Amino acid sequence: MSEIKTLKNYVNGEWVESKSTESINVYNPATKEVMAKVPLSTKEELDQAAELAQDASDEWKNTAVPKRARILFKFQQLLMENKQELAEIITKENGKSLTESLGEVQRGIENVEFATGAPSLMMGDSLSSIATDIEGTNYRYPVGVVGGITPFNFPMMVPCWMFPMAIATGNTFVLKPSEKTPLLVEKLVELLEASGLPKGVFNVVNGAHDVVNGILENEHIKAVSFVGSKPVGEHVYKKGTDNLKRVQALTGAKNHTVILDDANVDQAVKEVIGAAFGSAGERCMAAAVITVEEGIYDEFIQKLKTETENIKMGNGLDDGVFLGPVIREQNKETTIQYIEKGEKEGAKLLLDGREKTSDDGYFIGPTIFEDVQTDMTLWQDEIFAPVLSIIKIKDLKDGVRVANQSEFANGACLFSDSASSIRYFRENIDAGMLGINLGVPAPMAIFPFSGWKNSFFGSLHANGKDGVEFYTRKKVVTARHLEPDFSGEA
Ligand code: NAD
Repeated sequence: MSEIKTLKNYVNGEWVESKSTESINVYNPATKEVMAKVPLSTKEELDQAAELAQDASDEWKNTAVPKRARILFKFQQLLMENKQELAEIITKENGKSLTESLGEVQRGIENVEFATGAPSLMMGDSLSSIATDIEGTNYRYPVGVVGGITPFNFPMMVPCWMFPMAIATGNTFVLKPSEKTPLLVEKLVELLEASGLPKGVFNVVNGAHDVVNGILENEHIKAVSFVGSKPVGEHVYKKGTDNLKRVQALTGAKNHTVILDDANVDQAVKEVIGAAFGSAGERCMAAAVITVEEGIYDEFIQKLKTETENIKMGNGLDDGVFLGPVIREQNKETTIQYIEKGEKEGAKLLLDGREKTSDDGYFIGPTIFEDVQTDMTLWQDEIFAPVLSIIKIKDLKDGVRVANQSEFANGACLFSDSASSIRYFRENIDAGMLGINLGVPAPMAIFPFSGWKNSFFGSLHANGKDGVEFYTRKKVVTARHLEPDFSGEA
């Protein structure tokens, strides 16, 4: 049997062994195989990486913006050439199907493509005459060292929400990947090196809480991008801002979908299945609650049940598999507890995922509950598993009223053909990312990933122009230019 490798940290252009004696296993959730051990690096190791990132910062921030962008152009090309390998790593460490992993890689690449626009995105403004002989000009500069803390569910896309734009705008970066899915980043480093990224610009410190708290306390780290659950995001936001850093924390969700009588039922069923059970429901944009208008309720439920029963569950690397495992045994257990609780609280079980568990990996089948009420745990909590709640509604207003009671407000979808319903939904729903006649309205990299309420803490979101703002600070020059003296002219 081959020895299980312990992952290293990547600091100042070198892979270095962590000095920590503690590590945890990284599993393939579809097979329970231990693929590697991830060290629980210490705060001192994080501090050292941040200091070296600070040292690298002087040269990198003075590297011409088009030259920085050119490195990212090369990186984009290498990512395209390595799409399949990147996707296979994601499927092995996360469990999602290969098709979904390829989709994730594509979304990550789009962030790199957006960041190659840094030369125009970083441009400032100017006004030639703000008073007699006086002009004003605004320049953008990097903030310094940026820390990134990422979740397990998108090992490629979420880091790519952060570091491409951060480094394109002249910052250096220290990433703490999820300890559950830390493998993909090794490949990213290989491709960044091959793109010509100088040493110290991108660094990786593996670990868990200690590294996160180290990032939040470190004197060199000026900005922190976090994506993960609400309780951790709240901690990161409070502690980071307490230490006078700028922080963006993208957190949990409980996304609602409203399906009206005039919707195309077959299309809505297809989209809802993709949105609720794709990635085993482990998506911050997953459809967790579906509210369906009375007129089509029975037809929708019957079709949804039949189609969901046909879902193929298994190892995401195998052909035709749609539903992979959840990330760990603990998540499977928690999901089972939620199903038990849903039954106890009086929701009606339409499809029971417990009947389709498999011990080959952390598998649990898709679950659908009907007659869910807003005072049930099932409706309130982010379950982050293939569990869907259905509520019958009288009309659109009723659907919006239900959705707006949630503490979360990441995404929300509407299925309808009516322009006035679409407008009402857009104007009245509490959510930052809306989908009309589609299931997962994750915005492209050019737009901000803009959760509301407890789905986000901060003011500037990831991606889009918000991302550029978050990773830069401004300098405004007000200059007086006296009239040239032409008196001595010939
Ligand atoms: P998590 O909060 O458990 O972990 C996220 C990161 O925080 C990891 O790197 C982890 O090591 C660290 N961490 C965990 N507990 C910590 C603690 N007590 N102190 C300090 N650091 C800690 O999240 P997860 O389970 O990896 O990911 C799932 C969550 O992420 C879900 O809630 C999901 O909605 C959310 N998410 C949100 C978005 C978004 O854009 N809003 C996108 C993806 C995922």
